[in-house]
Amino acid sequence: MIRLCISIMALLLAACSAPADIRDSRFIMGTLVEFTVAGADEAASTVAITAAANEMQRIENAFTIYGNQNNSVKRFNRSQVGASVQLPEEISTLLATALTIKRESNGAFDPALGRLNRLWGFSLPEAPTSPPSSRAIEQAMPPATCIEKRNSGWARLHETCMLDFGAIAKGYAIDRGIEILRNHGIANAIINAGGDIRLIGSHGDQPWRIGIRHPRNRGEVIQSLELQGDVAVVTSGDYERFYIFKDKRYHHILDPKSGWPANTAQSVTVIAKSAMQADAWSTALFISEGHPDISRNLNIRLLIVNNRGEITKNTL
Ligand code: ADP
Ligand code: MG
Repeated sequence: MIRLCISIMALLLAACSAPADIRDSRFIMGTLVEFTVAGADEAASTVAITAAANEMQRIENAFTIYGNQNNSVKRFNRSQVGASVQLPEEISTLLATALTIKRESNGAFDPALGRLNRLWGFSLPEAPTSPPSSRAIEQAMPPATCIEKRNSGWARLHETCMLDFGAIAKGYAIDRGIEILRNHGIANAIINAGGDIRLIGSHGDQPWRIGIRHPRNRGEVIQSLELQGDVAVVTSGDYERFYIFKDKRYHHILDPKSGWPANTAQSVTVIAKSAMQADAWSTALFISEGHPDISRNLNIRLLIVNNRGEITKNTL
Protein backbone atom coordinates (compact mmCIF):
# COMPACT_ATOMS: atom_id res chain seq x y z
CA MET A 1 0.00 0.00 0.00
CA ILE A 2 2.78 2.40 0.97
CA ARG A 3 4.64 1.51 -2.25
CA LEU A 4 1.50 2.24 -4.31
CA CYS A 5 1.06 5.63 -2.61
CA ILE A 6 4.67 6.53 -3.28
CA SER A 7 4.42 5.60 -6.96
CA ILE A 8 1.16 7.60 -7.36
CA MET A 9 2.88 10.57 -5.73
CA ALA A 10 5.83 10.15 -8.09
CA LEU A 11 3.45 10.22 -11.08
CA LEU A 12 1.72 13.33 -9.76
CA LEU A 13 5.05 15.05 -9.20
CA ALA A 14 6.16 14.15 -12.73
CA ALA A 15 2.94 15.64 -14.11
CA CYS A 16 3.36 18.77 -11.98
CA SER A 17 7.00 19.28 -12.88
CA ALA A 18 6.28 19.63 -16.63
CA PRO A 19 5.91 23.44 -16.90
CA ALA A 20 2.62 24.72 -18.27
CA ASP A 21 2.47 26.44 -21.66
CA ILE A 22 3.07 30.17 -21.58
CA ARG A 23 0.58 32.00 -23.79
CA ASP A 24 0.19 35.59 -24.79
CA SER A 25 -1.43 37.45 -27.68
CA ARG A 26 -1.21 40.83 -29.40
CA PHE A 27 -3.13 42.53 -32.18
CA ILE A 28 -0.58 42.99 -34.98
CA MET A 29 -0.99 43.26 -38.77
CA GLY A 30 -4.74 43.42 -38.51
CA THR A 31 -4.99 40.07 -36.78
CA LEU A 32 -4.70 38.41 -33.38
CA VAL A 33 -1.20 36.96 -33.06
CA GLU A 34 -0.99 34.17 -30.48
CA PHE A 35 2.31 33.09 -28.97
CA THR A 36 2.64 29.74 -27.19
CA VAL A 37 5.87 28.60 -25.56
CA ALA A 38 6.27 25.11 -24.12
CA GLY A 39 8.78 23.66 -21.68
CA ALA A 40 10.37 26.93 -20.64
CA ASP A 41 10.57 29.17 -17.61
CA GLU A 42 7.64 31.59 -17.34
CA ALA A 43 9.61 34.79 -16.77
CA ALA A 44 12.05 34.05 -19.61
CA SER A 45 9.17 33.13 -21.94
CA THR A 46 7.32 36.35 -21.18
CA VAL A 47 10.42 38.42 -21.96
CA ALA A 48 10.97 36.45 -25.20
CA ILE A 49 7.34 36.82 -26.33
CA THR A 50 7.39 40.57 -25.69
CA ALA A 51 10.57 40.93 -27.77
CA ALA A 52 9.10 38.82 -30.60
CA ALA A 53 5.85 40.81 -30.59
CA ASN A 54 7.77 44.10 -30.67
CA GLU A 55 9.76 42.90 -33.66
CA MET A 56 6.58 41.88 -35.50
CA GLN A 57 5.03 45.27 -34.76
CA ARG A 58 8.20 46.96 -36.08
CA ILE A 59 7.85 44.98 -39.31
CA GLU A 60 4.21 45.97 -39.68
CA ASN A 61 5.18 49.63 -39.28
CA ALA A 62 8.01 49.29 -41.81
CA PHE A 63 5.97 47.55 -44.52
CA THR A 64 2.39 48.75 -44.23
CA ILE A 65 0.96 51.06 -46.88
CA TYR A 66 -2.03 51.91 -44.65
CA GLY A 67 -2.40 54.20 -41.64
CA ASN A 68 -0.84 57.60 -40.99
CA GLN A 69 2.69 56.56 -40.11
CA ASN A 70 5.27 57.31 -42.77
CA ASN A 71 7.70 54.63 -43.96
CA SER A 72 10.03 53.88 -46.88
CA VAL A 73 7.46 51.79 -48.73
CA LYS A 74 4.97 54.67 -48.75
CA ARG A 75 7.72 57.09 -49.82
CA PHE A 76 8.66 54.74 -52.67
CA ASN A 77 5.01 54.56 -53.76
CA ARG A 78 4.93 58.36 -53.97
CA SER A 79 8.30 58.65 -55.73
CA GLN A 80 8.61 60.09 -59.21
CA VAL A 81 8.11 57.52 -62.00
CA GLY A 82 11.52 56.44 -63.34
CA ALA A 83 13.55 57.91 -60.45
CA SER A 84 15.92 55.66 -58.48
CA VAL A 85 15.06 55.33 -54.80
CA GLN A 86 17.22 53.79 -52.09
CA LEU A 87 15.28 51.37 -49.92
CA PRO A 88 16.44 50.07 -46.53
CA GLU A 89 18.22 46.72 -46.86
CA GLU A 90 15.40 44.78 -45.19
CA ILE A 91 12.80 46.13 -47.64
CA SER A 92 15.11 45.73 -50.60
CA THR A 93 15.72 42.07 -49.68
CA LEU A 94 12.02 41.26 -49.24
CA LEU A 95 11.21 43.05 -52.49
CA ALA A 96 13.82 41.01 -54.37
CA THR A 97 12.36 37.80 -52.90
CA ALA A 98 8.84 38.92 -53.81
CA LEU A 99 9.87 39.64 -57.40
CA THR A 100 11.49 36.20 -57.65
CA ILE A 101 8.21 34.63 -56.51
CA LYS A 102 6.36 36.80 -59.02
CA ARG A 103 8.54 35.30 -61.78
CA GLU A 104 8.27 31.74 -60.46
CA SER A 105 4.48 32.01 -60.18
CA ASN A 106 4.08 33.38 -63.72
CA GLY A 107 2.93 36.70 -62.32
CA ALA A 108 0.18 35.31 -60.04
CA PHE A 109 1.91 36.73 -56.97
CA ASP A 110 2.64 40.40 -57.58
CA PRO A 111 4.04 42.77 -54.92
CA ALA A 112 3.29 45.84 -57.08
CA LEU A 113 -0.52 45.74 -56.87
CA GLY A 114 -0.74 48.52 -54.29
CA ARG A 115 -2.88 50.79 -56.45
CA LEU A 116 -5.31 48.00 -57.34
CA ASN A 117 -5.50 46.68 -53.76
CA ARG A 118 -6.27 50.18 -52.52
CA LEU A 119 -9.00 50.55 -55.12
CA TRP A 120 -10.66 47.33 -53.94
CA GLY A 121 -10.13 48.63 -50.42
CA PHE A 122 -10.30 45.42 -48.38
CA SER A 123 -7.57 46.64 -46.02
CA LEU A 124 -9.02 50.12 -45.51
CA PRO A 125 -10.59 50.88 -42.11
CA GLU A 126 -13.97 51.16 -43.87
CA ALA A 127 -13.93 48.46 -46.54
CA PRO A 128 -16.39 49.05 -49.40
CA THR A 129 -19.41 46.81 -49.91
CA SER A 130 -19.59 46.82 -53.72
CA PRO A 131 -16.92 46.36 -56.41
CA PRO A 132 -15.26 49.25 -58.25
CA SER A 133 -16.11 49.90 -61.91
CA SER A 134 -14.32 47.93 -64.67
CA ARG A 135 -12.90 51.20 -65.91
CA ALA A 136 -11.41 52.08 -62.51
CA ILE A 137 -9.94 48.57 -62.30
CA GLU A 138 -8.33 48.88 -65.74
CA GLN A 139 -6.82 52.22 -64.77
CA ALA A 140 -5.35 50.80 -61.55
CA MET A 141 -3.75 47.74 -63.16
CA PRO A 142 0.05 47.90 -63.39
CA PRO A 143 2.01 46.85 -66.48
CA ALA A 144 3.76 43.45 -66.34
CA THR A 145 7.18 45.03 -65.75
CA CYS A 146 6.72 47.52 -63.02
CA ILE A 147 9.61 47.67 -60.57
CA GLU A 148 13.22 47.92 -61.70
CA LYS A 149 16.38 47.23 -59.71
CA ARG A 150 19.30 49.46 -60.56
CA ASN A 151 22.74 49.95 -59.05
CA SER A 152 21.47 53.23 -57.65
CA GLY A 153 18.30 51.78 -56.08
CA TRP A 154 14.77 50.84 -57.12
CA ALA A 155 12.48 52.58 -59.59
CA ARG A 156 8.81 52.30 -60.35
CA LEU A 157 8.15 52.38 -64.06
CA HIS A 158 4.56 53.53 -64.19
CA GLU A 159 2.29 55.56 -61.94
CA THR A 160 0.15 52.48 -61.22
CA CYS A 161 3.18 50.61 -59.80
CA MET A 162 2.87 50.69 -56.02
CA LEU A 163 4.34 48.20 -53.62
CA ASP A 164 2.08 46.20 -51.33
CA PHE A 165 3.67 43.49 -49.21
CA GLY A 166 0.30 42.36 -47.82
CA ALA A 167 0.70 38.78 -49.05
CA ILE A 168 4.24 38.19 -47.77
CA ALA A 169 5.04 40.57 -44.87
CA LYS A 170 2.99 38.66 -42.30
CA GLY A 171 4.95 35.50 -43.07
CA TYR A 172 8.21 37.40 -42.86
CA ALA A 173 7.15 38.88 -39.51
CA ILE A 174 6.29 35.39 -38.16
CA ASP A 175 9.76 34.15 -39.21
CA ARG A 176 11.41 37.08 -37.45
CA GLY A 177 9.25 36.46 -34.38
CA ILE A 178 10.46 32.85 -34.24
CA GLU A 179 14.05 33.99 -34.70
CA ILE A 180 13.70 36.36 -31.74
CA LEU A 181 12.18 33.61 -29.57
CA ARG A 182 15.13 31.38 -30.46
CA ASN A 183 17.62 34.14 -29.68
CA HIS A 184 16.04 34.19 -26.23
CA GLY A 185 16.71 30.48 -25.79
CA ILE A 186 13.17 29.26 -26.59
CA ALA A 187 13.20 25.91 -28.39
CA ASN A 188 9.50 24.94 -28.40
CA ALA A 189 6.94 27.46 -29.57
CA ILE A 190 4.15 28.38 -31.96
CA ILE A 191 3.37 31.76 -33.43
CA ASN A 192 -0.15 31.76 -34.85
CA ALA A 193 -1.10 34.95 -36.70
CA GLY A 194 -4.75 34.41 -37.54
CA GLY A 195 -4.16 30.87 -38.86
CA ASP A 196 -0.76 31.61 -40.38
CA ILE A 197 1.62 29.55 -38.29
CA ARG A 198 5.21 28.69 -37.71
CA LEU A 199 6.16 26.21 -35.02
CA ILE A 200 9.45 24.99 -33.60
CA GLY A 201 10.30 22.01 -31.41
CA SER A 202 7.49 20.04 -29.84
CA HIS A 203 4.77 20.23 -27.23
CA GLY A 204 6.38 18.33 -24.37
CA ASP A 205 6.89 14.80 -25.65
CA GLN A 206 4.12 15.24 -28.25
CA PRO A 207 4.10 17.03 -31.61
CA TRP A 208 2.25 20.32 -31.86
CA ARG A 209 -1.37 19.90 -33.02
CA ILE A 210 -2.91 22.41 -35.34
CA GLY A 211 -6.17 22.60 -37.27
CA ILE A 212 -6.73 24.02 -40.77
CA ARG A 213 -9.96 25.99 -40.92
CA HIS A 214 -12.77 24.91 -43.20
CA PRO A 215 -13.21 27.73 -45.76
CA ARG A 216 -17.00 27.82 -45.42
CA ASN A 217 -18.05 26.16 -42.14
CA ARG A 218 -16.98 28.49 -39.36
CA GLY A 219 -15.51 26.70 -36.37
CA GLU A 220 -14.98 23.52 -38.39
CA VAL A 221 -11.53 22.06 -39.03
CA ILE A 222 -10.94 20.68 -42.53
CA GLN A 223 -7.74 18.92 -41.54
CA SER A 224 -5.76 18.40 -38.33
CA LEU A 225 -2.00 18.16 -38.41
CA GLU A 226 0.60 16.94 -35.96
CA LEU A 227 3.89 18.69 -36.64
CA GLN A 228 7.21 19.21 -34.95
CA GLY A 229 10.69 20.48 -35.72
CA ASP A 230 10.58 23.68 -37.73
CA VAL A 231 7.56 24.08 -39.99
CA ALA A 232 5.43 26.91 -41.37
CA VAL A 233 1.75 26.43 -42.29
CA VAL A 234 -0.05 29.31 -43.99
CA THR A 235 -3.52 29.52 -45.52
CA SER A 236 -4.91 32.06 -47.98
CA GLY A 237 -8.68 32.06 -48.20
CA ASP A 238 -11.60 33.98 -49.66
CA TYR A 239 -13.38 34.01 -46.27
CA GLU A 240 -11.23 36.44 -44.25
CA ARG A 241 -11.87 39.74 -45.96
CA PHE A 242 -14.83 39.66 -48.33
CA TYR A 243 -18.34 40.90 -49.00
CA ILE A 244 -21.24 39.48 -50.95
CA PHE A 245 -22.66 41.80 -53.60
CA LYS A 246 -25.60 40.65 -55.73
CA ASP A 247 -25.08 37.05 -54.58
CA LYS A 248 -21.42 37.06 -55.59
CA ARG A 249 -18.42 36.90 -53.25
CA TYR A 250 -15.72 39.55 -53.62
CA HIS A 251 -12.53 39.10 -51.60
CA HIS A 252 -9.02 40.45 -51.10
CA ILE A 253 -6.86 38.14 -53.24
CA LEU A 254 -6.72 39.61 -56.72
CA ASP A 255 -5.80 37.98 -60.00
CA PRO A 256 -3.21 40.37 -61.48
CA LYS A 257 -4.20 39.30 -65.01
CA SER A 258 -7.84 40.38 -64.64
CA GLY A 259 -7.72 42.85 -61.75
CA TRP A 260 -10.66 41.00 -60.14
CA PRO A 261 -10.72 38.63 -57.14
CA ALA A 262 -9.30 35.24 -58.08
CA ASN A 263 -12.12 32.72 -58.43
CA THR A 264 -10.64 29.24 -58.73
CA ALA A 265 -10.25 28.42 -55.02
CA GLN A 266 -11.80 28.90 -51.59
CA SER A 267 -8.58 28.23 -49.71
CA VAL A 268 -5.00 27.19 -50.30
CA THR A 269 -2.80 25.96 -47.45
CA VAL A 270 0.95 25.67 -47.89
CA ILE A 271 3.52 23.99 -45.66
CA ALA A 272 7.03 25.29 -46.24
CA LYS A 273 10.28 25.85 -44.40
CA SER A 274 9.64 29.56 -43.80
CA ALA A 275 6.39 31.39 -43.12
CA MET A 276 7.45 33.99 -45.70
CA GLN A 277 7.58 31.38 -48.48
CA ALA A 278 4.38 29.72 -47.26
CA ASP A 279 2.59 33.10 -47.13
CA ALA A 280 3.64 34.17 -50.62
CA TRP A 281 2.97 30.77 -52.19
CA SER A 282 -0.43 30.29 -50.56
CA THR A 283 -1.45 33.56 -52.20
CA ALA A 284 0.21 32.70 -55.52
CA LEU A 285 -1.39 29.26 -55.73
CA PHE A 286 -4.76 30.63 -54.69
CA ILE A 287 -4.65 32.48 -57.99
CA SER A 288 -3.14 29.78 -60.14
CA GLU A 289 -5.24 26.86 -58.96
CA GLY A 290 -5.83 26.24 -62.65
CA HIS A 291 -2.08 25.73 -63.12
CA PRO A 292 -1.02 23.43 -60.30
CA ASP A 293 2.13 22.42 -62.23
CA ILE A 294 3.67 25.64 -60.91
CA SER A 295 4.13 24.01 -57.52
CA ARG A 296 5.70 20.83 -58.89
CA ASN A 297 9.29 21.89 -58.45
CA LEU A 298 8.82 23.79 -55.22
CA ASN A 299 9.72 22.35 -51.89
CA ILE A 300 6.23 22.81 -50.46
CA ARG A 301 3.21 20.77 -49.42
CA LEU A 302 -0.29 21.82 -50.36
CA LEU A 303 -4.00 21.63 -49.59
CA ILE A 304 -6.26 23.20 -52.21
CA VAL A 305 -10.01 23.61 -51.77
CA ASN A 306 -11.45 24.64 -55.12
CA ASN A 307 -14.29 27.07 -55.76
CA ARG A 308 -16.88 24.29 -55.37
CA GLY A 309 -15.51 23.38 -51.94
CA GLU A 310 -13.81 20.17 -53.14
CA ILE A 311 -10.32 19.21 -52.05
CA THR A 312 -8.47 18.99 -55.37
CA LYS A 313 -4.97 18.55 -54.02
CA ASN A 314 -3.72 17.37 -50.66
CA THR A 315 -0.06 16.66 -49.97
CA LEU A 316 -0.11 17.90 -46.38
P1 ADP B 1 -4.05 37.37 -45.63
O1 ADP B 1 -3.51 38.75 -45.57
O2 ADP B 1 -5.50 37.27 -45.35
O3 ADP B 1 -3.23 36.37 -44.88
P2 ADP B 1 -2.82 36.84 -48.19
O4 ADP B 1 -1.53 36.45 -47.60
O5 ADP B 1 -3.32 35.99 -49.29
O6 ADP B 1 -3.98 36.92 -47.15
O7 ADP B 1 -2.62 38.33 -48.70
C1 ADP B 1 -3.65 39.09 -49.25
C2 ADP B 1 -3.18 40.51 -49.38
O8 ADP B 1 -2.11 40.56 -50.33
C3 ADP B 1 -4.23 41.45 -49.91
O9 ADP B 1 -4.91 42.09 -48.87
C4 ADP B 1 -3.42 42.44 -50.73
O10 ADP B 1 -2.84 43.41 -49.90
C5 ADP B 1 -2.30 41.59 -51.28
N1 ADP B 1 -2.61 40.92 -52.58
C6 ADP B 1 -3.81 40.72 -53.18
N2 ADP B 1 -3.67 40.05 -54.34
C7 ADP B 1 -2.32 39.81 -54.47
C8 ADP B 1 -1.53 39.15 -55.46
N3 ADP B 1 -2.06 38.61 -56.54
N4 ADP B 1 -0.18 39.11 -55.26
C9 ADP B 1 0.38 39.66 -54.17
N5 ADP B 1 -0.32 40.29 -53.22
C10 ADP B 1 -1.66 40.36 -53.35
MG1 MG C 1 0.00 35.36 -48.46
